[in-house]
Amino acid sequence: MTMEETRETQNQKETARLLIIEDEIPIADLLQYGLSREGFQVVCAHTAGAAISLAGSFLPQVILLDWMLPDMDGLELCRILSAEYNAPLIMLTARSDMEDKLKGLEAGADDYITKPFDMREVAMRIRAVLRRFEKAGQNGGWTEGASFSVSESEHLVMQKGRLVELTPKEFDLLTYLLKHPRQVHSRRILLEQVWGYDFAGDTRTVDIHIQRLRKKLSLDGHLLTVFGLGYKYVP
Ligand code: CA
Repeated sequence: MTMEETRETQNQKETARLLIIEDEIPIADLLQYGLSREGFQVVCAHTAGAAISLAGSFLPQVILLDWMLPDMDGLELCRILSAEYNAPLIMLTARSDMEDKLKGLEAGADDYITKPFDMREVAMRIRAVLRRFEKAGQNGGWTEGASFSVSESEHLVMQKGRLVELTPKEFDLLTYLLKHPRQVHSRRILLEQVWGYDFAGDTRTVDIHIQRLRKKLSLDGHLLTVFGLGYKYVP
């Protein structure tokens, strides 16, 4: 992370107003507690109706939205909120197939988290979406990779006209490498940059994700092992 990005993250950590819309009270409470501790200014709504009226006064900067709500389909609420507010929106859902993900993205969601979730990951995804949103004016379009294209704002990877399903970490690793081409990255650096400084896993995690990226995106000749040092992406 550059100094600028670190500062940006800290800044967002202090100020971002987060609206959580979740009808299951224990989950809503857990999110409110965890994300307040992460520094977000959090308000919770338990129904779509409450969310719509709260949003008008709270003016959320980022929205975390459950898919299944008692009084309105989450997709419908997603459309309403994304039309009304200039804030990135993350869908929170127990569903995990691609079709539902695409529906959410079509409805205006910027990212998608499936339950059960890890609180730290939720916080990181919110910050990531805020960063992407801020930069969207500059690089909101598709970035061309070796044989694939990536849309950071939509969190999608396409290859030969097909969507490639990547896990969030695979996606983050790929975009990090894309942004730093032709540089050698040690496993330790990649762990810090992609997984974060306090990630408890070891560097084997990086190897596994690199292998999966190579396999999913046929990156032979592009995602290189630099013996004894780490990895390098060559467009
Ligand atoms: Ca629900």
